[in-house]
Amino acid sequence: MDDKLPPLRDVIAAYDLAPRKSLGQNFLFDLNLTRKIARAAGANEGGTFYEVGPGPGGLTRALLAEGADRIIAVERDARCLPALAEIAAAWPGRLDVISDDALALDEAAILPRGVRIAANLPYNVGTAILIKWLTVPDWPPVWASLTLMFQKEVAQRLVAQPSTEHYGRLSVLAQWRCTAKILFDVNRGAFVPPPNVTSSIVRLEPRNEPLAPCRLSDLEKITAASFGQRRKMLRQSLKPLGGETLIARAGIDPTARPEDLTIPQFAALARALVEKV
Ligand code: SAM
Repeated sequence: MDDKLPPLRDVIAAYDLAPRKSLGQNFLFDLNLTRKIARAAGANEGGTFYEVGPGPGGLTRALLAEGADRIIAVERDARCLPALAEIAAAWPGRLDVISDDALALDEAAILPRGVRIAANLPYNVGTAILIKWLTVPDWPPVWASLTLMFQKEVAQRLVAQPSTEHYGRLSVLAQWRCTAKILFDVNRGAFVPPPNVTSSIVRLEPRNEPLAPCRLSDLEKITAASFGQRRKMLRQSLKPLGGETLIARAGIDPTARPEDLTIPQFAALARALVEKV
């Protein structure tokens, strides 16, 4: 459906929305691309969406045009609010904009269960926002899926398997609680201004249960200590947490390096940490 709104370039000019690097602003103007992202997020199936950083509203407009019934959006840059108000007026009752910092927002209190999250995240805080969503106390979370734009390198870390270059803390944390998949790459030329690197759209879906049982806080302690000294053997890097005793309790080879451990093995180490206390 066409929204009869002016082209995004005109919106940027009319509201003087020169992109600011400090806010991670790389805008998307290509309608084919924004609609492709909206479909990847499932907007054509209707339902409620949560968008972080709508900016001038390129992806927001695409989500609505593809069929999203309702969007709750949070934008930190107050300069974008008039442009977003125009979109809300064109789609009555379907877009609510919150003027706030997504990192500070208590999302569980405002989002309905089953909400799908779609965002072209600001590069400077994108990983921090994702970690906030992955580390909520209650699991499964309120959101049913995440369809997110990241720098390709971050996307590769999210989906990386053991014994590969990009496998690390973020891979373990993401895949412990979610399935993660790269859907497609987005050329830097699609953004205004173009970032330095290629981007990728990633889709994460929450598992009903984490991949292996353990406490999140213990898993975080174990992965931080293990990958903090990536090249060292586990018996060395895990010394402050119990070293060889801990590793033996988890049934793991003490000479292994962190990048070779599977997520269930990290979970076993996290459980062994509790047994020690
Ligand atoms: N969605 C738009 C698009 O695709 O063209 C803009 C994406 S731009 C990469 C990131 C957006 O996030 C900007 O509009 C920026 O102002 C906003 N932003 C940055 N930090 C934020 C935060 N902490 N909370 C909410 N929005 C934020």
